[in-house]
Amino acid sequence: MKQRLLFLGPPGAGKGTQAQRLAAREGLLHLSTGDLLRAEVQAGTPLGQEAEAVMASGELVSDALVLAIVRSRLEHHAGGWLLDGFPRNLPQAEALESLLTSLQQRIEQVILLELDDSVLIQRLLARGRADDNAEVIANRLQVYRQQTAPLIAHYESQGLLRRLDGAGSIDAIEERLASMLVD
Ligand code: ADP
Repeated sequence: MKQRLLFLGPPGAGKGTQAQRLAAREGLLHLSTGDLLRAEVQAGTPLGQEAEAVMASGELVSDALVLAIVRSRLEHHAGGWLLDGFPRNLPQAEALESLLTSLQQRIEQVILLELDDSVLIQRLLARGRADDNAEVIANRLQVYRQQTAPLIAHYESQGLLRRLDGAGSIDAIEERLASMLVD
């Protein structure tokens, strides 16, 4: 079973749900930069104060800030991990690669969760998080296309990418995912 994974895909594709299940089942560390940032906002830390307005607009918070969060969590963790929502652009991917090199680790597989925009928008509107209103969702999808989607070709060229259809029940997707990760 692969132990060091990235989850890639547009907002609303189900990365968080699947990542959480897989991490619990396999005893992996689940690192969601979105969740970690929301916790900082909630706690009112300086980092959270810096991130709050950016997140509310659907833009990306600074690479340095997210990288610091990821580094502090991966540095002292020896076991497997699953990154969800990071990297979100090429500079973050490059920073992750150098961090992993210094930790003598490597990404074993990248899972791309794919779903049509119309379904994504429906799911996000139904979820109703603070940044889940129509205007901000449209911006998040655009940010995804412009900044995050280039990572697909990046990981494809490294032979790491696997595509997972995000349509269907949570259980069905979980099963398809599990079968992709067998060595
Ligand atoms: P979703 O997957 O639904 O887009 P997330 O919970 O992953 O939502 O992220 C919510 C917001 O947190 C993003 O719109 C962005 O502002 C910020 N964020 C999360 N991860 C990153 C990252 N790696 N780089 C920059 N900003 C991020």
